[in-house]
Amino acid sequence: MHKIWYHIARSGGISYHLDKNNPGNREPMTKASVPLPPGAKCTRCRQQAHIRLPQHHALFCPDCFVHFFHSAVVRAMKKFAVDSTVPILVAVSGGKDSLALWDVLHSLGYPTRGLHLSLGIKGFSEASAEAISAFARERNLPWVRYSLEDAFGYSVDEIRRRTRRKICSVCGLLKRQILNRFASRERSKVLATGHNLDDEAGRLLGNLMRHRTQYFEKQYPYLPSPHPMIPAKMKPLYRLDSVEILTYCSIRSIEPVGAKCPYSRGATSHNYKEALDFLESRMPGTKRDFLFSYVNGRQSPSADADFGTCRQCLQPTYADLCSVCSLANQLRDTAKQVESE
Ligand code: SF4
Ligand SMILES: [Zn+2]
Ligand SMILES: [Zn+2]
Repeated sequence: MHKIWYHIARSGGISYHLDKNNPGNREPMTKASVPLPPGAKCTRCRQQAHIRLPQHHALFCPDCFVHFFHSAVVRAMKKFAVDSTVPILVAVSGGKDSLALWDVLHSLGYPTRGLHLSLGIKGFSEASAEAISAFARERNLPWVRYSLEDAFGYSVDEIRRRTRRKICSVCGLLKRQILNRFASRERSKVLATGHNLDDEAGRLLGNLMRHRTQYFEKQYPYLPSPHPMIPAKMKPLYRLDSVEILTYCSIRSIEPVGAKCPYSRGATSHNYKEALDFLESRMPGTKRDFLFSYVNGRQSPSADADFGTCRQCLQPTYADLCSVCSLANQLRDTAKQVESE
C-alpha cells in the first residue's frame, strides 16, 4: 500500500517518519540520511561519531553507542531485585524490542531462555516465529514456543471474529495471563519483557489523562512475584526509547520481524506516544524526565498476595473466575448463540 509520509520527527538524533495512516508505524530513515559531519567526535572515545542523542547531549560511534545501551540496561537491572545467576525467561515476540532485550541480557552474561506465544494471526505469527528462530539459531540461544490456540482454545484471528471488544486489549490480557502460566510451567521465577521508554511513558500519560488510578500501583518497571505460580516481571529496556532500540538492532545485526500485526492500527496507545514524540521533538529529554520523575519518586510495588483460586482452571486469581476463563466462557456463549440463530 502506498504510504503517505507527512512528518519527519527527530528523536535520539536519528530521523524517522511518521506514517499518517498508521502513526504507530515509525520507520527509521537510514543513518546515512542524517549524517553527522566528518570530524564530529564521539563523546566517549573521540573517534568519528555517527549517532547523535540530543536528549543526552551526546554523540557516539557505534561501539560507544552499544556501551551506552548496555549501561542503560545495567542501570535498570540494579533497580530490580534479581539474582544475576537466576535464569531469565525473555518473552519474545520477534519484534525489535524483545530481540534487542534478549541480545543485551545475553551479552551482559545473564542466563536466558526465550518464551514465545504464537498468537495465531495469519501471516504475522509465522513471520514472527521465523525471525525468532533465525535470531536464536545465530546466537545458539534456547527458546520455547507455545500456541495461544492450544492453550486457550482460540487464536487471535478467531477471537476477533467472535467478539466486538477491542482486540488489542483482549490480546494484551491473554498475553499477560498465558505467559505467566507458561513461565510457571517452565519453572521460571523471572519474566523479562521488551517494554521500552515510549511504551512506559505513553502508558503513564494515558493513565494520568484518564485518571486510571487503579493502574498506578503497577506502573513500574519491576513487579515482584505475588504468588508462587506468577513470576516476577521486569522491563530492562524502560530507560531506552524506540529509536535507540532500532539503532542497537541495526548495529548488532538483529533482524526483527518485518511484518506488522494487521490489528495494530486501532491501538489508542499510539496517540499518547505520538503526543510525547511531539513534545520530545521540541524539548529533547521531556519523555525521559516525565517517566523517570514518576518512577524515581515512588516506592517499588509490594507483592500483594491476596489470591484465591479460579474455580474453573485452578489458576491464582482475585475473583471466583479468572479473566481467561471468563473470556473463554463469553466466546463459547457467543458461538452457541450464533449456532441457535
Ligand atoms: S497489535 Fe494488538 S492484536 Fe496485534 S499483537 Fe499487538 S496487542 Fe495483539
Ligand atoms: Zn566512541
Ligand atoms: Zn480460570
